[in-house]
Amino acid sequence: METQRTKLLEVKDLKMHFPIQQGFLRKVVGYVRAVDGISFFIYEGETLGLVGESGCGKTTAGRCILRAYVPTAGEVLFRKNGEMVDLLKLPPKEMKALRREMQIIFQDPFSSLNPRMTVMDIISEPLVVNGIAKGDDLKLQVRNLLEAVGLRAQHMNRYPYAFSGGQRQRIGIARALALRPKLIVCDEPVSALDVSIQAQTINLLEDLQKDFGLTYLFIAHDLSVVEHISDRVAVMYLGNIVELAASNELYENPRHPYTEALLSAVPTTDPDQKSNRIVLEGDVPSPADPPPGCKFHPRCRFAKDICSQEVPAWSETSPDHWVACHLTDELKLSGIAYG
Ligand code: SF4
Repeated sequence: METQRTKLLEVKDLKMHFPIQQGFLRKVVGYVRAVDGISFFIYEGETLGLVGESGCGKTTAGRCILRAYVPTAGEVLFRKNGEMVDLLKLPPKEMKALRREMQIIFQDPFSSLNPRMTVMDIISEPLVVNGIAKGDDLKLQVRNLLEAVGLRAQHMNRYPYAFSGGQRQRIGIARALALRPKLIVCDEPVSALDVSIQAQTINLLEDLQKDFGLTYLFIAHDLSVVEHISDRVAVMYLGNIVELAASNELYENPRHPYTEALLSAVPTTDPDQKSNRIVLEGDVPSPADPPPGCKFHPRCRFAKDICSQEVPAWSETSPDHWVACHLTDELKLSGIAYG
């Protein structure tokens, strides 16, 4: 019997348009449509990968969910006491209380840790600020967090410069765990790390997910990073999600040409696949002046007239596999072996 899964987070038609101001009077002359109407949900205990090239809006989306930015429009629903509440409508006091349940792991472990604070101060700060622990209890909690992320108690009194990149990221993870959050936005958490350390960090995040009952929104710029940690993957292009499916389905049976191109860049030992790499022509267009119709059409090798004229509908091509492409039923796209 299939168990009923519970949504922890649901994002509906989220938009973040940053005004472009010019002149002495700071007149608004346009908008950067960083996030241009995205919708998705994440089940409790699930990992959703959010993938796209630099500038596609994925980090901005993560920041909007955490209300680091005030979005232009949309809803961010989060489960609180069994009910979904819209974070964008919560009064500041209620939002402050709920912030404990949502944390972030940053991309750069070098700049995200205050170099003047010891590891003890860095990890204990959220516990102190929220009045959760002090004295010996505080020390014990920090010690437990350090051990949970594979560091030792004697690391407590050292400063960030004394650690490698991978160890610094572990300190950042311990800090994110301190308040026992439900949701963690992992914002490219391994992009700045050596390849050899990336797998260790992802394995750690997977273990912590089980141990702490965490739900992840895992942001990355390529599909190889999210392959093993994600239950489902959403692919973003120029402010919109263009495809969303279970990981195995998306990797083996992509339905959007942009996803196919990203998959063709995933490293593989298969020599045939290497030669099939799809090189996208041109740069990502500016989100201040996106192309009409399908925003991907200037770079799409399958584009037809309709692609530059009409915005493709977001439709479910097979159960739980969503895509926005006019030609999805006609195209025979290539995936890669999953797992
Ligand atoms: Fe390519 Fe057209 Fe599909 Fe856009 S709608 S991805 S341009 S085929």
